[in-house]
Amino acid sequence: MTLYRFVGDAREWVFGAGLGMTVGGSEAMRAWVVSRPGPIETSPLRYVEKPVPAPARGELLVRVLACAVCRTDLHVSEGDLPVHREHVTPGHMVVGPVAALGEGVSGYAVGDRVGVAWLRHVDGTCVYCRRGSENLCPGSLYTGWDADGGYAEYTTVPAAFAYRLPAGVAAVELAPLLCAGIIGYRALLRASLPARGRLGLYGFGDSAHLVAQVALAQGASVHALTRGEASRRLALELGAASAGGAYDSPPEPLDSAILFAPVGDLVPVAMRALDRGGVLAVAGIHLTGIPRLDYERELFYEKELRSVTSNTRDNGREFLALALRYHVRATTHVYPMSRAQQALQDLKAGLFDGAAVLVNDRDTAH
Ligand SMILES: [Zn+2]
Ligand SMILES: [Zn+2]
Repeated sequence: MTLYRFVGDAREWVFGAGLGMTVGGSEAMRAWVVSRPGPIETSPLRYVEKPVPAPARGELLVRVLACAVCRTDLHVSEGDLPVHREHVTPGHMVVGPVAALGEGVSGYAVGDRVGVAWLRHVDGTCVYCRRGSENLCPGSLYTGWDADGGYAEYTTVPAAFAYRLPAGVAAVELAPLLCAGIIGYRALLRASLPARGRLGLYGFGDSAHLVAQVALAQGASVHALTRGEASRRLALELGAASAGGAYDSPPEPLDSAILFAPVGDLVPVAMRALDRGGVLAVAGIHLTGIPRLDYERELFYEKELRSVTSNTRDNGREFLALALRYHVRATTHVYPMSRAQQALQDLKAGLFDGAAVLVNDRDTAH
């Protein structure tokens, strides 16, 4: 049996072989860690055993029932995002019950169902926080990047950044709402879709298929512009007015568009598809180069190009309430937690539509 300690990490710890053992005086759990960031095909993640984390002051300990897989987890694993924490456990779309309360937590009880999402800390004092734009806070911290996330049996979250979730909906269905859904919703707000407006969605993956359901429930006319045949079929099943190729012209001019595909070449394409006064919101955290824009065809008539950065907690609470009211349903592909690395490889290879969701192996039997 080998036990070893992560260097420079006071709170966590030691891990060893043998599930169910006690290490460092606390209960052990299985968790994935990014051991050396690199191409996902080279398996940069390792499935290790480490102690169940102790919730710090103001934090909740959450037992992970489901953790959805985000493209950002791929960026963390492959090193596209700089390392913020050595051996970090990825995952920021977690659903599960509160298992323990840190000191000073009020308003939550053990057993309450909560969601853990991407944004986990802001300073609350900077100019952006004070004007209600905490998504722009330079002091922000993120789950599964700055702190260990949900590719594990347990994770922690500051109570002030947890979302309350109902018990009546399956955890697997709720998990993808927590990033794909929330960020997609902020993109929808940034796209300033007018009432009963015409919305174009460029790329139709995990985020777009959730946002489409909200927009449709609110009376919008939705056009999916995407390369995948299965994605186009899903869009039409959900009620989209049309589904065509990403470079095709939609059948009517658009009031608003959201670019989910990380493809800068699509920016001028989408700008041309906008009606006068239309808005394009670029939802991705990464985008390939944007070609030169033609002022007359692609910007004049007060068309606007906007980016989307993270989300505020208000965006999250608002979206979750709408998603429950409109019965927004994620198309999910369940993987046992022990196959998280495979799920990331499949995501990169584009082997599924909708969202992959990890479920801890001991829970798959139930
Ligand atoms: Zn995400
Ligand atoms: Zn701030």
